Amino acid sequence: MNFSKSIAAYDEAKPLMPGGVSSPVRSFPSVDLSPIYMDHGKGSNIYDLDGNEYIDYILSWGPLILGHADEKVVQLIKETVEKGTSFGSPHVLETKLAELVINRVPSIEKVRFVNSGTEATMSAIRLARGYTGRDKILKFEGSYHGSADSLLIKAGSGVATLGLPDSPGVPAQLAKDTLTVPYNDSERVVEIFKQYGHDIACVIVEPVAGNMGVVPPVDGFLQALRDITQAYGSLLIFDEVMTGFRVAYNCAQGYFGITPDLTTLGKVIGGGLPVGAYGGRLEIMNQIAPEGPVYQAGTLSGNPLAMAAGYMTLSQLTPEDYPEFRKKADRLAEGYIAAAKEYHIPLTVNQAGAMMGIFFTDQKVINYKRSKSSNLSHFKTYFGQMIEQGISLPPSQFEGVFLSTKHTMDDIEKTIQAAAHAFKVIAD
Ligand code: PLP
Repeated sequence: MNFSKSIAAYDEAKPLMPGGVSSPVRSFPSVDLSPIYMDHGKGSNIYDLDGNEYIDYILSWGPLILGHADEKVVQLIKETVEKGTSFGSPHVLETKLAELVINRVPSIEKVRFVNSGTEATMSAIRLARGYTGRDKILKFEGSYHGSADSLLIKAGSGVATLGLPDSPGVPAQLAKDTLTVPYNDSERVVEIFKQYGHDIACVIVEPVAGNMGVVPPVDGFLQALRDITQAYGSLLIFDEVMTGFRVAYNCAQGYFGITPDLTTLGKVIGGGLPVGAYGGRLEIMNQIAPEGPVYQAGTLSGNPLAMAAGYMTLSQLTPEDYPEFRKKADRLAEGYIAAAKEYHIPLTVNQAGAMMGIFFTDQKVINYKRSKSSNLSHFKTYFGQMIEQGISLPPSQFEGVFLSTKHTMDDIEKTIQAAAHAFKVIAD
């Protein structure tokens, strides 16, 4: 494949922006390649500046559950933009999207829209602290909840990809209030609660971890979090920025039957435009300004174009889409495992709805430590080989692989064939 236009574009960008990018993992830091500049996408395909075509499993890091440039989403954005880009006043698309979110997400009775997942989690943490009058929060090692100060402790996603320690610039005074334990370890959660329980405002958890690769909760883990938070008067926050409408029609909380106090959303609910949201029980959400004293605001929050894209995305998703995702994910997993066996490559595949994690290890991956046991050199070779065969994957072991409604079984078969070739190269 020829990447000369992408390479030239990156050379121009590098002196102008840190790493030449607007978000770190896009610079391909862990795969020793120059980043690929995309030009356009349609359905399950994406096309770069040099005209190369890929089957895309990044899907803008999760939002594009209907694939690229879905016709109805694009049409509503066009109709909306004709009327103006932003008003700074309430408008009806906000109400329409709020209704859809409240109807589908079991825990949400009232919702506030923001501009990103980071803003959603940051605001939900402030609300939990304001509501409980406590400062400490508990998160899990290798989970990523956006780049707000309190949440960058032992974080996954790009922080894990770059192998960075907790970020400089986060005040020690603030960091000490973030407690961390391994994902899926409810015994450690109980120990921490025995020590600090009455100071803990909330536990924030990805109900399926998606930022250490994809790691589902073990049986009883989410229920244990529900029980212990209730016992100590702490709030349980499900960060469903990634899992929301991706793991199941009613989000991960509907699938697992656990109702958190607060939920954060992003990605899918913006249909590819910048949106986040947080919501929960009325009594808690009524603490948010202007109804209550916990302040949070945004110039572009509830932006009409973003609400249009989110509304048309959620409107088109149906409960029947999720068994279809499962079918595609099952076939992909089956094909990968068979190919890995053929070439004696250690491989573990984790699945949850329309997201998957592929790890080059024999171990069952249930937490960040196990995820780090994946052979990163194998990953690097696999990634490079897949790109060369027209398969676009997240350029990091610690990110999830996403499916859209537009991925076909033919796409899945092509991807399995490409993976088999990549595994052969690793084995040789
Ligand atoms: N929470 C989770 C679970 C995420 O996966 C992410 C982003 O990947 C965020 C929060 C932050 O969202 P954003 O990148 O929109 O700020």
